[in-house]
Amino acid sequence: MEPGSFVDTLTRLLLRPRTLASRAPIAACPGVTLRRREAVAILLGCAMAAKADNATPKPLARFLGPAQGAALLLDIASRRAIAAHEADVVVAPPGSTIKPFALTALLTARKLTAAEPFLCPGKLTIAGRQLDCSHPPLTAPMRVETAIAYSCNCFVAHMAERFAWGEFASTLERAGFTHGFQLAQGDGARLQALGEQGVLASAADLAMAYRWLALSAPAPVLAGLEGAVEYGTGHLARVGGATGADVAGKTGTVRTAAGNRIAWFAGFFPSRAPRAAIAVMVAGTSGGADAAPVAARILAAYRAGTL
Ligand SMILES: [Zn+2]
Repeated sequence: MEPGSFVDTLTRLLLRPRTLASRAPIAACPGVTLRRREAVAILLGCAMAAKADNATPKPLARFLGPAQGAALLLDIASRRAIAAHEADVVVAPPGSTIKPFALTALLTARKLTAAEPFLCPGKLTIAGRQLDCSHPPLTAPMRVETAIAYSCNCFVAHMAERFAWGEFASTLERAGFTHGFQLAQGDGARLQALGEQGVLASAADLAMAYRWLALSAPAPVLAGLEGAVEYGTGHLARVGGATGADVAGKTGTVRTAAGNRIAWFAGFFPSRAPRAAIAVMVAGTSGGADAAPVAARILAAYRAGTL
């Protein structure tokens, strides 16, 4: 007899009208006699075993290929890890994946509006560090949506001058960044808003933080995250094919204090009814070229049910 049929028999016996006294023996299968509470204990054990099995995150190493890295796919409703690889092992500056949090904080504080224009000069130096934009020159001014989609350093750094002391840090804390974010203002806040200093994240941190964004991003930030995948820096994360982007997300590229280059992609899926948040961190030269395709492969497998 298969174990499943034993459990089914027990379940049917327990769910039928209670014509038996609770201490009376019940027949579960030929040759086995159980009292009701013993049957309940067995069923609880089966349920707990099944739950424990479901709770084990699936492996993601095969999606990373030869690249060294980390990744986490997170169930938004339950916060449970659906699949993971080394997600809590390494922390690094999150680079431009942090920009949507800076603009969310400024929008929420009414220090920025969705339509406020800013003509990107392309060149940017903060505290002696050269942080020029990498997007092509645009004739139209940037707004929140396009600044996120094109990952405009100049826009975000310009707007971050409006942060009061420690103001951005409070948003980072609410979003779930747990690794040593600093209170900052001025150049410190500008570098923090670009994810260059003053905040660190693991892949697990960033997936949790993008879960927070999935649930609370203001409309122009959400449009920017969709735009990044639809036409901006994260287009290699697309899994929607001809139907367009149904992933919302953001790339990031940073160099660690040790000189290693880290490529990030973080986002959520589907963008307008999110079920899963994802973060990918790999050794590479660019978030768009190295991390976004890994995210696309993971999300495609998740959508197809083949993780
Ligand atoms: Zn720019």
